[in-house]
Formats: sequence, structure tokens, C-alpha cells
Amino acid sequence: MIEFLSLKSVTGKYADEIHSAVRRVVDSGWYLQGAENDEFEREYADYIGAKHAVGCANGLDALIWILRAYKELGHFKDGDEILVPANTYIATILAITENNLKAVLVEPRLDTLEIDDEVLEAALTARTKAVMIVHLYGRCAYTEKIASFCKAHGLKLFEDNAQAHGCIWNGRKTGSLGDAAAHSFYPGKNLGALGDAGAITTDDPDVAACVRSLGNYGSAKKYVFQYCGRNSRLDEIQAAILRVKLRHLDADVGRRQDVAEMYYAGIEADGVRLPIKMAREANAYHLFPILCERRDELQAHLKACGIQTLIHYPIPPHRQECYQQAIKDGSLVLPKHGLPITERIHSEELSLPIGPTISDEEVKTVIAAVNDYETI
Ligand SMILES: *Cc1c(COP(=O)(O)O)cnc(C)c1O
Repeated sequence: MIEFLSLKSVTGKYADEIHSAVRRVVDSGWYLQGAENDEFEREYADYIGAKHAVGCANGLDALIWILRAYKELGHFKDGDEILVPANTYIATILAITENNLKAVLVEPRLDTLEIDDEVLEAALTARTKAVMIVHLYGRCAYTEKIASFCKAHGLKLFEDNAQAHGCIWNGRKTGSLGDAAAHSFYPGKNLGALGDAGAITTDDPDVAACVRSLGNYGSAKKYVFQYCGRNSRLDEIQAAILRVKLRHLDADVGRRQDVAEMYYAGIEADGVRLPIKMAREANAYHLFPILCERRDELQAHLKACGIQTLIHYPIPPHRQECYQQAIKDGSLVLPKHGLPITERIHSEELSLPIGPTISDEEVKTVIAAVNDYETI
């Protein structure tokens, strides 16, 4: 059986270092808001190329705190609109609607699966305040056109970098390309903790201070509460583990890139579409998505060959039960002509096994099985 991603082997690779990091925290007697957090935040900010990194409980909170901070700092009000790709993982959209902001869904491109910078203009209104790009599948969603669109209309540019640790655009890491970025360290992500964890990066000291306070009950000074915050902190144990994993992140991403190159070179089945490669981008290949009209048959065929695949994602956010009322109320906004490309991606997408510990032999087996698809 070829697993989609074996977390046991990913952790096992660094087990000795992880055990000693955990032991260090256990023995220290200090479990929250301590030296491991401070060090991880500094090391992660350096890695991303941002002035500040602030740890928090998970990636969803990181997204929520960014938007809430811009409200607290007077940039956004209830009902303001944020443009967001319709094919993202639902967390990106939950963070917008949870903040009483309107999520305005825009279509991705079929060839890159990333937000389509050609359709932003049509979604713009007097209440548009920001664009939230999502570096989905580990691929960079940033374009110069998006940046100049934001600049021309006075919009903030945010990045959901949950899937793209290690992705580089024109020499800069994703997570450093906009005003603020949210990062998830969910165990399966490129930089994964052994539990939940997240972070916000930004160059803006006021945003950094505000998100830090929001995740600590709204308090920057003990017993003094400036905001009605919540408890959303990064554990010292997770910070210590992330420091170990961060040291190996580039090597892990390098292996993912080698696996992706093998897929690009080997897959040649008619009816299977691979996303195009973009110049100036080092894709971090969190996932390796392919599109296939007979996706469910292909998945069953691969399963019969002992290959586990996943679908990212089977049901788009605007088709989820939780958002039907919001669509009627107008707090989740769809384009006039619907979202045919998003729906097509959700019906055709299949993610092949990829990760830092998959072997060349396993990758070759996957390629041969995919290329067999025409015979099924
Ligand atoms: C994983 C993920 C999140 C949420 O992160 P959690 O740490 O699981 O809360 C947000 N956005 C995207 C695109 C993700 O893939």
C-alpha cells in the first residue's frame, strides 16, 4: 500500500531531534509563552523574510486574527468585502465570515488552480477592502497584476500560506509578499507540528502587536485587556518541535520538488491534466493535484493498484450546508454567472501521493498506474 502521506515516517525521520526538543521543554517547567516560542518566531520570521512572526493556536485562528486586527486598527468595518478564491479550503472563508466581513468568491484558473487575476476587477465594489490570496497546493498565487490591482484600489493584500511553506516567488518566500500572511502547522502541512499550531507573519509592528494581543485574551500587559480576545497560543512543546522541523524544511520541500518532477516527466495519460508550471516560481508541492473527467474511476483504479489518493476538495465552500443562508443573506457573494471553473475543479481534482519520505520506486508505481488509466 502506497500511503498518500505517511506522517509516521515524516516524524520518524527526525525522531531523535524531536524527542530531545520535547524533553528539553518537559524538563524546563515552562510550557507557554516562553523561550521556545520566542526563538521559533524569530527563526520563522527570518525564514519567511518578514519582520514579525506571531505564533497562535492553528491556521484558522491565524486567518481570523489578521482580519480582526485590521478591524481593530480601524481599516475595515462590518460588511466590508474581501475577495477570495472560491476553490480554497473552507477555513479561509470561515475567517472572513466569522469577522462579519463579506466573502466575495472569485474563480481560479483551470490551468494553475490559483485565483484568476483577470476576474478581480469584475468583483470590485466600493466596499472591497482586501484580496486574500491562497497559495493552494503549495503553488504561488501571487502575481504582479494582483499586487498592482491592490495598490490601484487601496486594498490590503493577504496571503493564506497554510499549504505553501517553502514556496518561493521571484526570490521571495510566500508569506512575505503581502501585508500579512497566515500559516498553519497542522501535522500534514509542509511544516507540520505534532498537533495544532499556526502563525501570522507581517512587516507591520502594529498588526503584529494586535494579533499577539488578540490571541492572548486581548491583553498585551498582564491583567490589562485592550480587546475582547481569545486564548489562541502556541504551546512551547509545539514551538520546540517546529524549530526542529524548520531546520529540515528546505530539504523536505526539495524532495517534494523531485517527486513532482518525476510526475511531470512520467505522466502521459490522455485525459489527465497536470497544472502548468510557472516561471519565477519554486512550487513547494504540498500536494500534487491532477485533473481528470473520470476522476472517481481513476481513484478507484489507483486504489485497486494499492495507491491511496485524496480529493482536495470534494465539495466547494459555496455548496456546503453551512453557507446556504449566507448566500441568501448576501454575506457570501458569488459571481453573477456562478462558479463553473471552481465546480469543475472540485469534480475533477485528484491528489497523488507526495511527501518528503515517498521513495522513487513508489513514485514510479504511481506513474505506471496513472498511465494505465486509459485501459480501465
Ligand atoms: C490547513 C489550512 C487552513 C487551516 O489551518 P488549520 O491549522 O488546520 O486551522 C487554512 N487554509 C488552508 C488553505 C489550509 O490548507
